[in-house]
Amino acid sequence: MSTTVKAYGTESPEIPLHELTISRRELQAHDIEMEILYCGICHSDLHQVHADFGPYPAPIVPGHEILGRITAVGDHVKNFKIGDLAGIGCIVDSCDHCEYCNDGIEQFCEEGVTFSFNSEDKVSGGHTFGGFSKSYVCNERYVLKMPAFENLAAAAPLLCAGITVYSPLKHWGAGPGKKVGILGIGGLGHMAIKIAKAMGAEVIVFTTSPDKVSDAKRLGADEAVLSSDQDAMAAYVNKLHFIIDTVSAKHDVNVYLNLLRHDGTVVLVGLPPQPLEIGAFNVVMGRKSFAGSNIGGIAETQEMLDFCFEHNIVADSEIINIQDINTAFDRLERGDVKYRFVIDMASL
Ligand code: NAP
Ligand code: ZN
Repeated sequence: MSTTVKAYGTESPEIPLHELTISRRELQAHDIEMEILYCGICHSDLHQVHADFGPYPAPIVPGHEILGRITAVGDHVKNFKIGDLAGIGCIVDSCDHCEYCNDGIEQFCEEGVTFSFNSEDKVSGGHTFGGFSKSYVCNERYVLKMPAFENLAAAAPLLCAGITVYSPLKHWGAGPGKKVGILGIGGLGHMAIKIAKAMGAEVIVFTTSPDKVSDAKRLGADEAVLSSDQDAMAAYVNKLHFIIDTVSAKHDVNVYLNLLRHDGTVVLVGLPPQPLEIGAFNVVMGRKSFAGSNIGGIAETQEMLDFCFEHNIVADSEIINIQDINTAFDRLERGDVKYRFVIDMASL
């Protein structure tokens, strides 16, 4: 028997988010059911609600930084019991037998990964609904064990923002002796500062917002540069080993390719809906790379959670009630959040 639960979502980009009811699938043998306590708000939620990546099946219920408590377990569930704290991020299903799934990079599953919202649900049919809701049902293989963070609400954003920057920082070797640039101080960017510093890298932040320059240092950055300040930018030409670009809108990446040392890489994690242009000389000179990175696998997400718990890293969060979601989306659009909204799901 599927269960009916309260959620927040919308039918089209023109209609503000509002309360609605959705069905969660019947608990399968390997499924857990989770009561959702907190859900972070990522810019990807906003992109999708705005149909930036194309039209969606209605209704859409966003939310993929989902933290809660287990309320039921299927007959074959091994790793969770009722009452456990748990997390669900972006991935809720994959084929579990391709090369990528076997290598723990389920985000690149050959048969197509199922995302926590707005994805085909290959178990029950229909499409998945995200964490702006009272509960979630999914296979335990994709559920994270949540360490006992003192501030649980502030730990929810680790489930997308945290892993999305941890994975490339690790892949491109952030650590002692490495100068890492971080472009954009939003939800992802501020997590990247904290995680890169904990890995031992030297961190230089580039922002378009004058008020974030001093705040970046409070967050742990060694240097923060206002990207409109040409002289300050010139000081970093050919200096950085790699740069994580978290910017959500179209921008000129060539400026940042010029800040790389030879063999350096700009790693795009932001998802501007429009194509970005690269000048040939900006990569040819210095054998530079322009790369991308997509969230991270389940095992790596667990590793990131444990790393952040050990290093006392959570998001700087502003807690809101679900009824304020449309105002929060407007503010996120304007970059007016320091640095992640988190919904207290008790308000639904
Ligand atoms: P966010 O909180 O809105 O942060 C984005 C930051 O980018 C802003 O705070 C701003 O920083 C900067 N920015 C925004 N517009 C800009 C513009 N026109 N020019 C230059 N800088 C601009 O968003 P988020 O939640 O961190 O997400 C960032 C992006 O990553 C989104 O596109 C999101 O969809 C994507 N994302 C990708 C993945 C993945 O797996 N690849 C996962 C999650 C999210 P300053 O004020 O400091 O300039
Ligand atoms: Zn996200």
